[in-house]
Order: sequence, then structure tokens, then C-alpha cells
Amino acid sequence: MNIEVDLVPKDERKPKPSDVLQVAFGTVFTDHMFSMSHSGTEWTDARIHPYGPLSLSPAALCLHYGQGIFEGMKAYCRGDRVLLFRPEKNFERLNESARRMVMPEIDEAFALHSLKELLNIERSWVPDVPGSSLYIRPTMIGTEPKLGVKPSSEYLYYIILGPVGPYFKEGFAPVKIYVSDRYVRAVRGGTGAAKASGNYAAGLLAGTDATKVGYSQVLWLDALENRWIEEVGTMNLMIRFDDEIATPPLTGTILPGITRDSVLTLIKDYGMNVKERMVSIDEVIEGIKSGKVKEIFGCGTAAIIAPVGFLWYKDTPYEVANGKIGELTQRLFDELIGIQSGELEDPHDWVVPID
Ligand SMILES: *Cc1c(COP(=O)(O)O)cnc(C)c1O
Repeated sequence: MNIEVDLVPKDERKPKPSDVLQVAFGTVFTDHMFSMSHSGTEWTDARIHPYGPLSLSPAALCLHYGQGIFEGMKAYCRGDRVLLFRPEKNFERLNESARRMVMPEIDEAFALHSLKELLNIERSWVPDVPGSSLYIRPTMIGTEPKLGVKPSSEYLYYIILGPVGPYFKEGFAPVKIYVSDRYVRAVRGGTGAAKASGNYAAGLLAGTDATKVGYSQVLWLDALENRWIEEVGTMNLMIRFDDEIATPPLTGTILPGITRDSVLTLIKDYGMNVKERMVSIDEVIEGIKSGKVKEIFGCGTAAIIAPVGFLWYKDTPYEVANGKIGELTQRLFDELIGIQSGELEDPHDWVVPID
């Protein structure tokens, strides 16, 4: 499919942020976006055009019944090159989310091609300051104007971009995580493995419980027993018990993170013992008390690696490994960001330059 291009005149383009590291995550967007629409039979009308408001019927199905999915990825600037990290995985997962939400799939090669075309136009927006990147948000929504619970017959797919600094305003510093034992995020057979917008709305109330005690992120437990660790709001979780690194298995209730997969690969490269297994909250709390838990970290595109300094569980704060950043946590952060930004060797061919 041909991509039509309609550019913002040079003298009407937005100024770039003067200090990208100070930009709050997801608040600044570039001059252009990509979009295409689906009429029920095929994707048409692929365009790169000025960033701006969408025109939607107030009856659009996504607004009422939540048929919306998205992806999150990053582009890095290395000299005059722009690098993506395993982008084909994101488009594969977008299609998995689409199947779960009864939405049309996108040709993955075309999806990557259109992203590269957009990035080529927005090259000057990819920041080169260490710790910064250009965040990429592919999105798909059901747009048919109809009040009826059914899959939409029309869709819009678009990509927006924005320069970002570190995800947490603290930067690479231990975060405080609130274990929710009151609300749940996903259950077997539900939509937990899809990057579907409704999942995040369902999690907001637990977030307000966390905020009340000064915590920012929620750790979800399983929905049946309220006992097994699942994941954090936007990150998968890894726990190091002495020499074993454990992370919950992909059973359909958690997001199959691309960072998670990359971290598992790197840990195996290091020759360390890593297991995808069920981990109970009791095992973690006991391990924190006894000192068996050496480090806990979250992993996801937005934060990359986030050391966990405190867990709040049943009205009690537990400090993880004296609140210090663990050795493996630091090593993975340095290595992943090094590979993604083109500073370090890329033994698994994860990095994809845009041209
Ligand atoms: C996006 C996301 C992740 C992390 O996935 P990555 O592919 O590593 O970015 C983990 N959990 C949830 C709920 C997410 O939305």
C-alpha cells in the first residue's frame, strides 16, 4: 500500500523540548503521525500527516465498549542512525492483541515499513541525550458509530511519537510498589495477555489505594487465590532468591513482555539460574525478611529496568535488600540500554536501524 504524505510547513513545526530529560513521560508529541483505516474488508488510506485531534463519532464503539489496543516501543539515536529494538515483536503482539479483541490484523511487514517512514520524517525528534529516546505508540480502535455490543466494522490504526526522558521521575532509582490484595487485574481466560486499553482502566482504582500510602505502582496478584505474583502496572517482575532468578510464567493473565523475554535471554547468557515459575507473595515476603531475596526488579519498554526498593503488603512496608540497587539489576539495565542505544554489541541481532 502506498503511503500518502502531507507535511507540516517547516516554519510551523513545534519547537523541540530544551531539556528532554525533564519532559514528563508521554506529554510531548512530534509534528506528524501515521494513520490508516479499515472499512471492514481491508486497510486503506495510509497517510503520514500533521499530528492532531481525531474526528470520531460520539457513538464510536471504542468509546463505549473499549475495543482498543496499543503497543509501546522506543527509537534511539546513535550518531546519524535511528535504532529500533525488536520492533517485529511489537507488531506480532499487536496482532495477538487484535485477535483477542476481535479486531483486524495488520500486515507486520507493512506496519514496520510505515513506522520507519514516519521515523524518517521525524528523525530530528529522536533525542540523543543519554537516558532519552523517542517513545512510539501504535494504537488501534474500533470506530464504527453504533451503540451495540459487537465487534466494530470499522477501525482506525495510528502511530504517534514523543520524546521522553526516564519513565520514573526519580530516574534509575528504587521504586516503591504496592501489592494489591483487594483488586485484581486479570483472570485466566480474560484479556490480561493483550495490550488492551480496558485492562488499564480496570487497574486505576488499585492505583489510588497505592497513592494513599505514597506508592506509585501496583503489583498484581492472581485473581483466584490472591497469592501468586503476576506483574506490575506496566512491567513484568523478576525476583532474585539467592542464586535463582524467578519470574511468573506466561499463563495468559500477564503481558508477554518483550523486555521480559530479552532479560531472560541475557540472564541465560550470563550462565545464571533463571526459572519461569509461580512465585507466591508469601515466599517473597519471607525471603525479604530472611535476606534470601537479593533483588527485585521490574522490566518493560517504558522504564527498561526498574529496581524495586519497597513492597507494601497488607498495611506493612518491606524494604527490599536495604533499598539498594542490586548487582544483576544494574548489569541488566546497563546492558539493555547499551544494546538499545547502539553503544554495546548486539549478539542477538535485536537492534533494527530504520534504514
Ligand atoms: C507493556 C506492558 C509490559 C511490558 O512489555 P514490554 O514489551 O517489555 O514493553 C508489561 N506489563 C504490562 C501490563 C504492559 O502493558
